[in-house]
Amino acid sequence: MPQNPSRLGRSIIQSEIRNMSLECAARGGINLAQGVCDTPMPRQVAEAACLAIGEGLNSYTHYKGLIELRQSIAGKMRRYNNVITDPETEVVVSAGATGAFYCACLSMLNKGDEVILFEPYYGYHFNTLKTLGMTVSLVTLRPPGWEFSPAELEKAVSARTRAIVVCTPSNPCGKVFTRAELKTIAEFAAAHDLLIITDEIYEYFLYDNNAHISPMSLPEIAGRAITISGYSKTFNVTGWRIGYCVAQRTWADIIGQLNDLVYVCAPAPLQLGVAAGIDELKDSYYSSLRESYQKKRDLICNSLQNAGLKPCIPQGSYYVLADVSGIKGRTGKEKAINILEKTGVAGVPGSAFFRHKIGENFIRFCFAKSDPELTEACRRLEKLGG
Ligand code: PLP
Repeated sequence: MPQNPSRLGRSIIQSEIRNMSLECAARGGINLAQGVCDTPMPRQVAEAACLAIGEGLNSYTHYKGLIELRQSIAGKMRRYNNVITDPETEVVVSAGATGAFYCACLSMLNKGDEVILFEPYYGYHFNTLKTLGMTVSLVTLRPPGWEFSPAELEKAVSARTRAIVVCTPSNPCGKVFTRAELKTIAEFAAAHDLLIITDEIYEYFLYDNNAHISPMSLPEIAGRAITISGYSKTFNVTGWRIGYCVAQRTWADIIGQLNDLVYVCAPAPLQLGVAAGIDELKDSYYSSLRESYQKKRDLICNSLQNAGLKPCIPQGSYYVLADVSGIKGRTGKEKAINILEKTGVAGVPGSAFFRHKIGENFIRFCFAKSDPELTEACRRLEKLGG
């Protein structure tokens, strides 16, 4: 007789993002629910990966990743993030930013520890922490500008608090943390001796001249930060599973060993593909990424406005939270289904990103879509405006 699944196994529920993707597929709609980019990947990245496969790079790699990729990441950390890091000892390549976050939490936190997240939060951060037995304490970001209050940070801390997570640019609200805000977080973390775990996967997706500031580049944060990022979004290779973290050597060693235990390594030839992309793509690649996404952001925000779904204009990332309080439905889910049925466009109910009931009045739309598909989605959304 087979055993029952574990308590953890039984507690796992289908994410609202996947739910909405299924609802969308069942109706043949346009899926703006999932953060999957359908624009092409850079040629250099594909060619270098194919070459590596052709040359037989088929084995496990070093548990911290191929040194070629770690060197490329360290170079990019210096040039773009203003962070000096040693590729031999302080960089760990993992199975996407998701793998890096999981291994960082496994390495640095214990069951029962408390971790602060800003709300709205990225569901994987919340669920990873919960799954590992940690308690999440939330600090509100207030729409439409998504500012936080230092007093609320103080309220969220307890004797068991060990870390704070900063996602910048943020999924789902597109907030880009300013230097002043990071300084506030730095002082707070120093006062309570907290680890700062960052998620910077959208670091190149920035609008209106907003600049990405890596928290680790602030001297007052450097010693207590673990920087996490990856290339799923920047190179449109979400299925390749290449991400990384940067941390001081003693931490990086342990994170690397847990990465070995859980994933063994990220796919070897794909590591070389990403390394080639980092080394060979010029600044123009990143500036045209920014320009094309700025156009997509403006397009969807205008359409949401015309549809009567007031958008909170994102400063970065490729999502927008829209106010759906005027749409029929008792819950965010009902509102999202209502929009899907009327327009054939799927978004994610805010309850996936908020504990607070305010989440029921938001829907997140992803605008990482090809121009024709996004244009069609926008045309359909505008039908809501009559
Ligand atoms: N972090 C954030 C904030 C995300 O939004 C996503 C994907 O949606 C990820 C991490 C996943 O990154 P990866 O594909 O590198 O695991």
